[in-house]
Amino acid sequence: MCRENQRAVTEYRVNKMTGKLFILSGPSGVGKGTLRENALKNFSNLVYSISCTTREPREGETNGVEYRFISRDEFEQGINNNLFLEYARVHENYYGTLKSDVIQELESGKNVLLEIDVQGALQVREKMNDSILIFIAPPSIEELSRRLINRNTETQHDLNIRLANAAKELELANKYDYIVVNDDLDSASRKLQEIFINESR
Ligand code: 5GP
Repeated sequence: MCRENQRAVTEYRVNKMTGKLFILSGPSGVGKGTLRENALKNFSNLVYSISCTTREPREGETNGVEYRFISRDEFEQGINNNLFLEYARVHENYYGTLKSDVIQELESGKNVLLEIDVQGALQVREKMNDSILIFIAPPSIEELSRRLINRNTETQHDLNIRLANAAKELELANKYDYIVVNDDLDSASRKLQEIFINESR
């Protein structure tokens, strides 16, 4: 992982970027994953950057598909080697976006979609101020809690952490360029697609 990425990071300084970077954030359980999949189906020039994480894969998740599941040591090595465009501790695990992944796609003219937390999104905004930040909000915290419980993928401990984080994330939504309330999946999907159309190059 490391050698390949370091080469790309060097190129980042010299090559002109042509694609556009879109960042999707929002509390766990809000429906970002489904909205992202819909967007990727509809926009052939939009590619998803697969994050690295130290969290355990959930049932049905495959390394290299949903995430690159790596050890804490590997992640910390990546931090020390400055390989991440952004990274954050979220719900007690590390999550991060490799610079090389994003830069290579942008340079090839692709628009890139990141699905990352608020801390990470604000780090990217500092480095690439023409990125487009989109926050997906739940209709209410109560509804979010219902959706997370129904999803049934977290332990009670993780669920509590995710709900506490949701409240913090919602407070930062006003730093985003767009807020899309996911009260109805179809209409949220349409709103998101309008944003991609209006903001794409
Ligand atoms: P989950 O464990 O449910 O897949 O993701 C938990 C949270 O981590 C979500 O809010 C998700 O957006 C965020 N996340 C996923 N990948 C990244 C990443 O590369 N960087 C950051 N900062 N957050 C991420």
